Amino acid sequence: MSMNTRGRPTGAGTPSTLAANGAALLPDEPLLFEIGDTEHSGVDLPDAEISTARLGGFERTAPLDLAGLTEPEAMRHYVRLSRLNHSIDAGFYPLGSCTMKHNPRLNEKMARLPGFADLHPLQPKSTVQGALAVMEELSHWLLTLTNTSAVALTPKAGAHGELLGMMTIKAAQEARGEAHRKIVLVPESAHGTNPATAAFLGYSVKAIPAREDGTVDVAAVREALSPDVAAIMLTNPNTCGLFEPDVVAIAEAVHNAGAFFYCDGANFNAIMGVVRPGDLGIDAMHINLHKTFSTPHGGGGPGAGPVVLSEALAPFAPVPFVRRNADGSLDLVEHAEAQSLERITAFQGQMGMYVRALTYMLSHGGDGLAQAAKDAVLNANYIKARLADVVTVSFPDHHAMHEVLFDDRFFESTGVSTLDFAKALIDEGFHPMTMYFPLVVHGAMLVEPTESESKQTLDAFCDVMRDLANDARDGNTERFSGAPYTAPRRRLDETRAARQPILTWEPDDARAQAAE
Ligand SMILES: *Cc1c(COP(=O)(O)O)cnc(C)c1O
Repeated sequence: MSMNTRGRPTGAGTPSTLAANGAALLPDEPLLFEIGDTEHSGVDLPDAEISTARLGGFERTAPLDLAGLTEPEAMRHYVRLSRLNHSIDAGFYPLGSCTMKHNPRLNEKMARLPGFADLHPLQPKSTVQGALAVMEELSHWLLTLTNTSAVALTPKAGAHGELLGMMTIKAAQEARGEAHRKIVLVPESAHGTNPATAAFLGYSVKAIPAREDGTVDVAAVREALSPDVAAIMLTNPNTCGLFEPDVVAIAEAVHNAGAFFYCDGANFNAIMGVVRPGDLGIDAMHINLHKTFSTPHGGGGPGAGPVVLSEALAPFAPVPFVRRNADGSLDLVEHAEAQSLERITAFQGQMGMYVRALTYMLSHGGDGLAQAAKDAVLNANYIKARLADVVTVSFPDHHAMHEVLFDDRFFESTGVSTLDFAKALIDEGFHPMTMYFPLVVHGAMLVEPTESESKQTLDAFCDVMRDLANDARDGNTERFSGAPYTAPRRRLDETRAARQPILTWEPDDARAQAAE
């Protein structure tokens, strides 16, 4: 095997120009402290007369040792660092279950309007009527799309929404004198946050096995139900990218046993405008605004996980919530009344996210949201159809919803693993898919294209996937074992990084001596 200039094995398919150009212009970036020195500074201030009298003996005795850089040096450092990140604005990002879709610039423009961006959470309500109107209208859209009775906007992520939703279930059961219900049923294909939420609230978690076809076994649910079961936490569409065909029967069984149906609705983008979860019998469901209704997330920005509630749980919705006064003005109810739960966030939640999500909704309209869901499903099924003859589709007999699940059977005994395969995608300019999740199949590869990708992009991705799959089969293992060859960082020791993270920078000896 020969190596090209960047140490990538040649004859292993053509790296896309994106990856090739990117790597050449993205050298390693030293730390701010390693670029700067203590001699210069971006600002020019006169020496100050400092009085230590009021510092109570806590004044610094050693210099701060901040990196000294000029303004352009500091700016270039951060811009170069930002270019080491892959983002949805830089390329395709098919991370299953994460819904990395295009973030329309219009959303950003609206969120930056000074009337929203410069609000203070403690401003008098008479001065924030527009912001309250956004919250009211967003609530209206969420309730209409889900056919439910109440919504709590404030949770700041999907997992946070799960916590709140399960807290309302707990409160409802305590109010009925049924605090003895201590078991939560969680199917094997659930997102990891589901059992974590249940356990965090003191429930014991009972796993429900998946059927051969990746869906939840209604008979197994019926068998697991008892007077001690508080709820089931079911993801629909589930994390295998499948719509649960027995969801209505499961809801009925759960309700007949006096338990509640918590639905993990993080994947609402697959069904919004097409199916109303309230019609399926759900009692509580979080909706990840940052997935379904766009907006940068992950490393790119904050999340928001509003929870919709059925009639039975609506009285337990937490404060704060928006209420319209008799005179038509809007009020933010901030103190718990009757059975409502206390607040679970400071202030009113992620205002910027509310604006972005509502902008997305209004710019699509109801029919446009349904179209987006259908296009997301179509795109996932297109990838499935284009790859099915070379990459193992885990559940070929079901239509995929918004994402399609592959597993590692197609490169069995080639020596290539799911991890190797994902890393090789990086060399081709694509962010890897979600790996090793869900756990119901071996070596999972979960691909979610979302509705915002063109056929050209999907084809480019499928071409690379086919090429990689054929290379793995042909025994060209070098293309995989050392990948990524073109990324600024190669394979990391992720276990060590997680177990022994180094979170502080220590100046090297020479620098320490120079500072003395
Ligand atoms: C993303 C996701 C979550 C968690 O949402 P966060 O906002 O990351 O807390 C929960 N369940 C499913 C199915 C998800 O895809």
